[in-house]
Amino acid sequence: SEPLLSIRDLVTEFDTQDGLIRAVDHVSFDVGRGEVVGVVGESGSGKSVTAMSVMGLVPPNVGRVVQGQALFDGQDLLAASPEEMRRLRGDELAIIFQDPITSLNPVLTVGAQIGEAIRTHRDLSKDDARSEAVELLTAVGVDDAERRVDQYPHEFSGGMRQRVMIAIAIANRPKLLIADEPTTALDVTVQAQVLELLSRTQQEMQSSIVLITHDLGLVAEVADRVVVMYAGRVVETGSVHEIFQEPRHPYTRGLLASRPGLGGSDRLPAIPGQAPSLLAMPTGCKFHPRCDQSDGRAPCWEEEPSLRVIGADADDRASRCHYHEELARERTAETPRPR
Ligand code: ATP
Ligand code: MG
Repeated sequence: SEPLLSIRDLVTEFDTQDGLIRAVDHVSFDVGRGEVVGVVGESGSGKSVTAMSVMGLVPPNVGRVVQGQALFDGQDLLAASPEEMRRLRGDELAIIFQDPITSLNPVLTVGAQIGEAIRTHRDLSKDDARSEAVELLTAVGVDDAERRVDQYPHEFSGGMRQRVMIAIAIANRPKLLIADEPTTALDVTVQAQVLELLSRTQQEMQSSIVLITHDLGLVAEVADRVVVMYAGRVVETGSVHEIFQEPRHPYTRGLLASRPGLGGSDRLPAIPGQAPSLLAMPTGCKFHPRCDQSDGRAPCWEEEPSLRVIGADADDRASRCHYHEELARERTAETPRPR
C-alpha cells in the first residue's frame, strides 16, 4: 500500500557565517504504515535537519527547505502553510527530542502541559483533559500518576521527563512519531524502558515511527528498516536484516564494525578520519577519502554515485556506492567455511 510518509528529493540549506551549507542533499525515503524506520549516521549527517524539515521546524531566519516533497497521507507537508503545520503537529504528527528538559515548560505542571497538548487539538474540558493526562502518564509507566500529574518537570528524573515527553507526543495518537535520539540522555536501564515503551506504543496505536539514532543496537531491536545518512545524503537503505547481514556501502560496514560490543565497553575502532565539512566537500563520492574500498579508484573521486536500487524485488534496498556489487561478493567470500 501507499507509504504513510514519502520524502522525495528533499534539499535543506542554512546560511552560516562561513557560507551556505546544504545540510540535506536530495534525501528520499519512505515510511510505511505501522513501520519503524531507523535513521542512522554520524553527527552532522543531516538526520535532525531531515526531521525538522518534515515537521516544518527549520528555523526560518537561517535555514530553508529549497526543494522536495514530504507526502504525508498524500499531502505535501513542505507545501503546507504554517497554520496547517501547527494543526498537524501534536496531532497527526509528533516529534520527541533528545533533551526533555528544554522542551518542557518549567513553570507549568506536567498535567497542565499534557492537558494543553490535548486541548489544542480536541474540545475537552480541563477536568477531562486532566483525567486523560493521568491515564497517559500511567500508560507511559509513571507510577502514582494521580499525584504526579500536579508536579513540575524539575520534580521528575531524566527518564521520567522523557516519559512525559512521550505522553505529550502520543496524547492525540499521532499517525507518525519522529523520535530524535529519544534515549541518548538517559542511562542504559532507562534507555531500554523508554525504547520498550516506544515500541509498545507503536504496536498499540499502529503508528509509524522514525527513530533517529547513533545507536545501531537500538535500530536492531526496534526498527523494521534502516536509512543510513552521510554528509547530508542517504547512502544506503534496506531492511534491518539486510543492513546487518549484508551492508552494501562501506560506510554502513564501518558503522557496524565500530558498534560497541555486547559488553558495552569493548568498542572496535571507529571509521578512520572525519566526516567532511559541508563547506568543503570532496569530489566524487563524499565518503571516498575515508573509504577502505575506493583505494584510488577513479570513479570514486571523479563521480558521485547515485543511490541505486539493488536487486529485483526489493524496491527499498539501495546503495550509493560504485562498488556495491563487489561488497556483496566479498561478503559471500568471507562467509566462514564449516570446519
Ligand atoms: P547529530 O547526530 O549530532 O544530532 P545530525 O545528523 O542530526 O547530527 P543535523 O543536526 O541534521 O545533524 O545537522 C546537519 C548539518 O546542518 C550540520 O552541519 C549542522 O551544523 C547544520 N545545521 C543544523 N542546524 C543548523 C542551524 N540552525 N544553523 C546552521 N546550521 C545548522
Ligand atoms: Mg541530530
